[in-house]
Formats: sequence, structure tokens, C-alpha cells
Amino acid sequence: MSIAPSTLRAYRASLLHFHADPAFAEHAYSWFEDGLLIVDGGVIVAAGDYARLRPTLADGADIVDYSGKIICPGFIDTHIHFPQTDMIASPAPGLLPWLDSYTFPTERKFADPAHGREVADFFIEQLMRSGTTTAMVYCTVHKESVDAFFEASEARGLRMVAGKVLMDRNCPDFLADTAEGGVADSEELIKRWHGRGRAHYAITPRFAPTSSEAQLMLAGELARAWPDTFIQTHVAENCDECNWVKSLFPASRSYLDVYDGFGLLRPRAMFGHCIWLDDDDFARMADTGAAAAVCPTSNLFLGSGLFDFERADAKSVLLSLASDVGAGTSFCMLQTMNEAYKVARMKGSYLPALRMFYMATLGAARAMRLEGVIGNFAAGVEADFLVLDPAATPLLARRTGECDNLEELLFALALLGDDRAVAATYSGGVLQWQRPA
Ligand SMILES: [Zn+2]
Repeated sequence: MSIAPSTLRAYRASLLHFHADPAFAEHAYSWFEDGLLIVDGGVIVAAGDYARLRPTLADGADIVDYSGKIICPGFIDTHIHFPQTDMIASPAPGLLPWLDSYTFPTERKFADPAHGREVADFFIEQLMRSGTTTAMVYCTVHKESVDAFFEASEARGLRMVAGKVLMDRNCPDFLADTAEGGVADSEELIKRWHGRGRAHYAITPRFAPTSSEAQLMLAGELARAWPDTFIQTHVAENCDECNWVKSLFPASRSYLDVYDGFGLLRPRAMFGHCIWLDDDDFARMADTGAAAAVCPTSNLFLGSGLFDFERADAKSVLLSLASDVGAGTSFCMLQTMNEAYKVARMKGSYLPALRMFYMATLGAARAMRLEGVIGNFAAGVEADFLVLDPAATPLLARRTGECDNLEELLFALALLGDDRAVAATYSGGVLQWQRPA
């Protein structure tokens, strides 16, 4: 009689993960200086002190030694455009000229499935080398771009959210769909991808100015018909855009209210930017369970404005961090934290590093209603994690060597770290990226 080989594997390192939001709870996280993470069949079995957990394993157990490094749950980026990979760092004076000069010509190429797949593979490799294991991804108006993305993420077994952009006005003809056609394509893609393996579909109106009332209405109906799909769009990113929305939808109380009127505020709805919302808007987001994707590198790059963390927290809005590549200037959530910290300071508030690591992991999972699936190391959660190297560069090594506590260590990683600090990335228990020696 043969016994099936065990798939049990353990990882020794310092471990960090969260149980709650450190801004609102006292015992929000666990930190094990000499920790052990035990994984079996792509899910977490246990996370704790090495000395306590080692005796639970057999003598010859498979233990990967990352001593001196930190293992935390995989980063989650809640707003990113995969077709904009090739136009990251393109100069333009603001959002609307940037869309016309770079975004629309670049997105046009995604009618070709081969091009879409080539970019999707490169894009996913950038996520992996940055430690990002889940993302909420905008594709283009072409349904082929969604197939290309999900085929690439399925090949690696990743938990990803993506959707076809809906856009039936105020855009070049070569990127326009129609109200009925766009929603029919979305439903076809939902049936093909939503819930297949680790894929989730997101109904994706680009933003209110590029969707007719008819298209937004049909998108709202689709969201009601498929209540566990995601919704993603942009809201209140910059002042010119807000004024434009006011002229297009004069009957709505606010930009956010346009989406509310079409039934697009609900759990699993993720709104990018949220810079120019008022207190009533934030309260409405909290009431409906909609969440904010805060995109600091993008907001600074385009000069859109500064997100107000304190004001959003006062209404208990679900917050997450996002890169918004191609307007965002880095795929790396460490660099996103770096800029989020400075944005908070410019608004007179303060973001501890522990809070930022929470927002990039469990906070995002909660905002996406995926707690228990991804985001921390509770037993049964999927084994998506990264290995951070606090000595990745001479400067990081020197600075982290002087740190007296966890907050200082994480802060140094957030402010000085980038993809060089990611030694390895695992998704579903499978090694996806290993930094070259
Ligand atoms: Zn965006």
C-alpha cells in the first residue's frame, strides 16, 4: 500500500498578519519574530511561533528557511489598468489630456488578443515581483482583453478580479461600445469567467462621463442580477472631471450620487480615487458597503488632489490602497504606501506603517468582501504571501538595523522599499517569483 506524498510545507521567518484595523482595534495584528507558516494544498494550516509549531511537524518536514526576512500576506492592489502597462510614466498636464494623448491610443491595440496576452503576462510578472497577489484590474472595451487577462492569471492560479470597460460616449469611435452591446458582452464574460477557478468578474463602467444614462442603467441592472460580482469605476478624481459630471448629470446631488442613482453602490463596489467627495458621500459609501481605492502615486502624478484619510475614517468608509498604473508610477505597494503617507501628512493627518500594511492586505480583502479567502494567515485562508527582505539594499540594511520596534521596521520598508525588497512571492502556495540571486 502506498501513501500519497504530503503536500505540507512550512516557511520559517518573522511573520506579520492582521485580524482587525489597527486604527480602530487594540489587538489588530500578530507578529512572530521567529515564526513558522504552515501551508497545505494551497491553504494556510497554521501561523505562529516556530518553537510552538515545529513539534507539530514530522522530523523530516519540508521547511523553507527565510530566517531574517518577514513573511506577510500578499499585497492586494484594488485599482489598476493592465492595458496601460506600456504607457506608465507618460507626461501630460492632467487627467483629460493624458487620456486623449496616451490612454486611448494605447488601449486601441487590445482588440488584438495576441497583444493582450503578451501584455497580460508581462503585467502579471510585474505584480508578482512587487508582491501583489490579487488585483482589481481594468481591461479595455474589447472583451478579448478580458479573456487575455484571465487566461494569463488562470495559468498561474491567481485570485484576480477584472472586467471589460464600458464606454459608449465621449471617447474615440474606435473604443466605443453601445449601451446594450457593452452590457451583453459583460454578461457573456461573467458567465465565462466569474467563479471559474480563482477569477472574479467586475462590472466596469470607466467613469460617468464616458457612459450614457442608458449604459449606467443597464450596468446597474446587471449588478443586481449578479449580486456577487464586483463593480469598479472612478469617482471624483479631479476638479475638471467633477465639473464635467455636474454638467452631464445636473439632477444628481453629487458625482457619487450619479452612480447611486443607477444602483451601483453596494458591497463589492470599489470606487477609485474619492478625492472630491463630501461628508454625505462618505457616509453613503459606508451605509451601502461600497469601498474606496486610494491611489496616491497616481493622484500626485496627475496633480488630481489629496485623499482625506481622516474624513473618510470619520464615516468608517472601507479603505484600501491602489497603484492605478498607468497613471500610478509604481506597481509596488511599498511605494504606494510611501506616497500615501505623504498625502496624509499634506492633509494634516498621520498614517502609521501598521495601518498601511493592514490596508494593503486584510483591509483590502474586507473592502472586497474576501475576508476568509485572502488577506491574512487564519487557518483555511489561501496561501498567498510574500517574503520581504529588510536588508534588500545597503541603505535598507543600515536603517532597519537601527529599528527599535515593528512600526519603525515597517515604516522603513514602506518608505525605502520597492520591488527589490520582495525576495519571493507565493500564490496558492506556489512560488510565483523569486528575486534573482
Ligand atoms: Zn484608474
